[in-house]
Amino acid sequence: MLVELTVLFWITGLVYGSPNHPGDEQSFGYDSGELDPPHWATEYKTCSGKYQSPIDIEEDLVTKVNLPLLRFHNIDTLPTTTSIMNNGHTVVLQLNYSAPVMISGGPLTPTYKFTQLHFHWGVNDSLGSEDLINNHSYPMELHMVFTNTDYDSDSIALTKNDGLVVLASFFEITKEDNPVYSEIVNALDIIHMPDTSTFLPNGFTIRSVLPESTEHYFTYKGSLTTPPCLEVVTWIDFKHPIRLSHNQIQAFRMLRSKHGQLTHNARPVQELSGRPVWYNVGGFANLNIPNTSSGLTFDFSIFNMVMLLCCKLATLTLL
Ligand SMILES: [Zn+2]
Repeated sequence: MLVELTVLFWITGLVYGSPNHPGDEQSFGYDSGELDPPHWATEYKTCSGKYQSPIDIEEDLVTKVNLPLLRFHNIDTLPTTTSIMNNGHTVVLQLNYSAPVMISGGPLTPTYKFTQLHFHWGVNDSLGSEDLINNHSYPMELHMVFTNTDYDSDSIALTKNDGLVVLASFFEITKEDNPVYSEIVNALDIIHMPDTSTFLPNGFTIRSVLPESTEHYFTYKGSLTTPPCLEVVTWIDFKHPIRLSHNQIQAFRMLRSKHGQLTHNARPVQELSGRPVWYNVGGFANLNIPNTSSGLTFDFSIFNMVMLLCCKLATLTLL
């Protein structure tokens, strides 16, 4: 079972390790020393790219837009199997379906297929998210990774600037446990050590782990937040957080990496380098905007033109 899961997670693990270093997944870390984030670019040159993630999103500086509805497909179906793994850097969940979970719409031209989800957290409840909002850090962040279905394989998608979409959700602390996450949190004891995995008995639907509202979100172009930090990601950060108790988040901090306790795994924010960040105001979900033509790779100038048009339309509607 472990061998099968290792193969399974090798594919999804491309998000965590370098394709040039298969099996060498411990060549980056988060604690101070040679493996910490400021040193990643020594071994992974692409981590010093211009358009890296995460970033600090300043709400005063974002461009407000009104994008078409973000469409979810098959998110109310329970997976046939759900595996959970401690890969030494994070907790990764692989959900297998008889029909794929997909997203389209919003800022996306192609359709993207769900690949895996994982988490980032901090040493205490005052920090842990990767993207910041107004320099504010949330205690944990969920990343749902989707791959562009226009490409034949995940490895090809990782070479394209529109290869991946990550739906990011922030967590905030609440007094009560969130029952949707109980099964995940309960499994953390079993995967306490790095490179261990298990299956969840029941699993969950994708909808159940999304924030209640997915209408309002920030979106920008950036990178994987782990080596090799490839600049292939369209980020969609939902505004509304998910609630989780302190004890539930604390359980993640108890996991072990190969270097000790995995108390935190958030990369510090990177330079924005003039990138535009958009905020979807929602409320005009059926607004018709020009199609940026299928097969066209994501392009800032074209996207900008569409955004400007959307802004004008939204402003007119508001007036
Ligand atoms: Zn991540």
